[in-house]
Amino acid sequence: MVIEAAYADGTGAANALHMSQAQWEELQRAYCVGDLLMPCCNAPAIPKVSANGYPFFAHLGGACSTSEESQWHLAAKILVRSVLEDLGCRASVEMPGSGDAGRWQADVWGERNGVRLAVEIQRSYQSLRDYRKRQERYREAGVKSLWLLRQERYSTLTKSMGKERLRTEFGGKFPSAGHFGPCLSDLPVAMLELDPAPTVKGAGFFNATLPNILEAVLSERFLCINGLWCIDNLDSMNNAARLSRERFAANRLAAKM
Ligand SMILES: [Zn+2]
Repeated sequence: MVIEAAYADGTGAANALHMSQAQWEELQRAYCVGDLLMPCCNAPAIPKVSANGYPFFAHLGGACSTSEESQWHLAAKILVRSVLEDLGCRASVEMPGSGDAGRWQADVWGERNGVRLAVEIQRSYQSLRDYRKRQERYREAGVKSLWLLRQERYSTLTKSMGKERLRTEFGGKFPSAGHFGPCLSDLPVAMLELDPAPTVKGAGFFNATLPNILEAVLSERFLCINGLWCIDNLDSMNNAARLSRERFAANRLAAKM
């Protein structure tokens, strides 16, 4: 879902997140094809509203010359940057920087009242070791950070993190009591979905809006508790997990009868 398109005459950009419904409708009524360009490939951008009411830009004719992966990555960066702006941050994309543990180029960078935040949007495979190495650069420099992953990347990383946690914290055995969360407390991570509407999810039935999670990271309320990243919603996450287990048990019982 692309929410920003540049004006072809160089006068800036139209951003769906920063516009009222009336302004969006006016744009839809008044634009001419070619006035606005897609950020991925400079094709003409058409302002639309999705079936569930979200304003977005589409390619004229639907075709894009860049890969689906790069389109997703770019759309996600623009969205995160726009949400950070809404939260009162000075925000930019592809921000270089460095600290004692090394250099970085943050996909999205936000600053607010002296708080610095790097958001990394990971679409391609990366080993747990590399995640931690890159994460350590931010931690060491006192920069808050958040990793937002596509679903398949998130599943792969969660498996690696779970194994690592079992090995280092539980001596290789599943804990007998309580529930086992797979996440590591030194790697703030969640899964980002852009379609049909932007949503953030995570292990243990974590669910948040993008503004919620970004605000939580900025204000140190995104916490890892027993291997699960959460905001203030651990109770409702546990509830959802319990309901899911009950449904699963009921289905098994029904299948046996
Ligand atoms: Zn394109």
